[in-house]
Amino acid sequence: MKIAMIGTGYVGLVSGVCFSDFGHEVVCVDKNQDKLALLRAGKTPIFEPGLDRLMARNMAANRLSFTDDLRDATQDADTVFIAVGTPSRRGDGHADLSFVFGAVKEVAEVLTKPAVIVIKSTVPVGTNRKVAELLKEVRPDLACDVVSNPEFLREGAAIDDFMHPDRVVVGVESERASEVMREVYRPLALRDYPLLTTDLETAEMIKYAANAFLATKVTFINEIAMLCEKTGADVKDVANGMGFDSRIGPKFLQAGPGYGGSCFPKDTMALARIGQDNSSPLQIVETVIKVNEEVKRLMIEKIIDLCDGKLQNKTIAVLGLTFKPDTDDMRDAPALTIVPVLVGRGANVRVVDPQAFREAESLLPNVAWFDDPYAATDGADAVVMLTEWNEFRALDLREMAGRMAQPRMADLRNIYSCDLALDAGFEAYSGMGRKSKL
Ligand code: NAD
Repeated sequence: MKIAMIGTGYVGLVSGVCFSDFGHEVVCVDKNQDKLALLRAGKTPIFEPGLDRLMARNMAANRLSFTDDLRDATQDADTVFIAVGTPSRRGDGHADLSFVFGAVKEVAEVLTKPAVIVIKSTVPVGTNRKVAELLKEVRPDLACDVVSNPEFLREGAAIDDFMHPDRVVVGVESERASEVMREVYRPLALRDYPLLTTDLETAEMIKYAANAFLATKVTFINEIAMLCEKTGADVKDVANGMGFDSRIGPKFLQAGPGYGGSCFPKDTMALARIGQDNSSPLQIVETVIKVNEEVKRLMIEKIIDLCDGKLQNKTIAVLGLTFKPDTDDMRDAPALTIVPVLVGRGANVRVVDPQAFREAESLLPNVAWFDDPYAATDGADAVVMLTEWNEFRALDLREMAGRMAQPRMADLRNIYSCDLALDAGFEAYSGMGRKSKL
């Protein structure tokens, strides 16, 4: 199969690399010349574990290449995947579809034969049908098929997710397109995985419904954590006790500082708008969005309480900035809400993150960057655990407490525990929905 992949972001690059590893011939297209220069040199512009090795292997096998020449890339392509961004539109929370329609139009203009156009980007219900109309309008001479193939990979585990998906969803309108998609994903069929074939609208809806459900699960346990703090229950044990129930499951039940990242915030917002536009408001999703904002605000209060109500001239070390470990993606990370408030209230904020610097440097001005968590806490008045990177999971707390002016910890990921922190010499510990000492 010959595949053109338009967009080399987290989804496009991982999908393109994995498809080439299946044995398909993949040409990845992007407009960003900086990214292309890195990619052509065999370097990945994003941090995703294992991606560089897989990319090098397939480039060496001549199955994977990178270009900005759309005509060339789509010349012989059987399928053209669109994996460009669909960020929140400024002001109203709708998905901004300008990149998708822009890319489809550009592809349509250069196609020399009919192809299957596959929309991998997360797009609101009805978008694939509009893509089909746009294709007909620009190229009435070509009978192209449109397929909705939403992606479910998680940053940080993207390759494994792509290679071992829980399911592949394919929204199609013709048997021909369905066959082509089965061929694209055929190498996966050696293992048992469900390939779910639906209509276009259903495939689009599955993606938003799945993300909104997961965001709801996270937010639910965060709210329970708040109640645990008031009642003396321990949210970790509560989540465990809930998670053993096979109807509930243990995943996405870790209390934390609110969901973030490039998908949940924008996709919950877009789904809420889709509901409103169709006079079928999604009250649960709308509430989840509100509660998640509230959770982030409460995290700031937690830190202020830990510092006796005053941040002015306090030195605070923040460990972890990305919305989760094993990614460099800073989009909508809770750190972007929390850290500026600490800085704004007069704290000297030191930050440590194994991967965030490239993206976060410009987003978080007026903070001091450190490589080493111990150096960052030297003489500090508080340490905030914000992302549970492996690097922060087994710290020598005694060493850390000994270096701090005031050994106090806000553990927003429940990496440690009150007893552990106090035993190590911390004088105050504030966890999420469990025993704390202020
Ligand atoms: P991204 O912003 O990281 O990458 C998009 C890329 O597309 C950029 O490199 C950009 O330069 C390129 N691009 C834009 N217009 C182009 C054009 N006309 N021609 C060529 N290149 C163009 O986006 P992402 O995070 O990979 O997300 C892509 C889509 O996948 C979104 O709809 C997102 O919701 C969805 N998704 C993302 C994830 C995730 O974890 N990031 C997971 C599942 C689904």
